[in-house]
Amino acid sequence: MSTSVAMVDALAPVHEDPAHSAILLDVDGTLAPIVRHTQDALVDEATRALLIDVSRRYGLVACVSGRRASDARRIVSIGSIAYLGSHGSELLAPGSVVPKLDRELEPWTRRMQQFLRETDSTELQHLRVRIEDKGVIAGYHWRGAPNEDAAHAGVVEVAARAEAAGLRTHWGRKVLEVRPPVSIDKGVGITKLLRSRDIDVALYAGDDETDLDAFRALNELTESGRLRAAVRVGVRSDEGPEEIVSSADVVVDGTANVRSLLEALLTN
Ligand SMILES: [Mg+2]
Repeated sequence: MSTSVAMVDALAPVHEDPAHSAILLDVDGTLAPIVRHTQDALVDEATRALLIDVSRRYGLVACVSGRRASDARRIVSIGSIAYLGSHGSELLAPGSVVPKLDRELEPWTRRMQQFLRETDSTELQHLRVRIEDKGVIAGYHWRGAPNEDAAHAGVVEVAARAEAAGLRTHWGRKVLEVRPPVSIDKGVGITKLLRSRDIDVALYAGDDETDLDAFRALNELTESGRLRAAVRVGVRSDEGPEEIVSSADVVVDGTANVRSLLEALLTN
């Protein structure tokens, strides 16, 4: 195996005590390659098999996604791990069928559903912007639209409307998300996930802007002493932010090399 020395060194904290270590992984662009149509995303069999072995070895394994938790589970297709969906705002526990929405967000469901209906315009439909209903989050995707520039311009108008309405906007890889003005991000999500668990070390791997929130949360959790150590793994891609590389402890190139990371988690 071609695991680099840097990788082995970076993973030392999780190897020390796997039973009390958490392995937290983004899905799209990390476990599953980015595809033109997001509904076609899939984790390949080799990665799945490794992830199952990883889940047997470590105290907590969770996939952390911008997608609905149930959608993330459909793509990863492993029932025995946890799924933190919609950027950490809902949790699908291992083996569970019904995701649990963060209590702070429940009051926003109606208002967000209304915003979603108001912005589902014929103009956006013509531009082939795909609108995703994630309960308290609305997603506007323009990847693969016949004219991506025009579709993006339509989405920029949605963002202006959201901001005027006092909602928050977040830009990802060819997607705009509109969220309630409540802290929702992968960092808040993983902080809550780790709160009640006997975990001392956490590793997080991700490729995108939203994963930087998880990196920051790991920094805070180690600085406050809640975690003994943390490992930030940046997955490099053409579309991802430069900061995912510059703020990582270890960098892997694309989803294919995330497999090397999983292999390295199983050997030491
Ligand atoms: Mg991603």
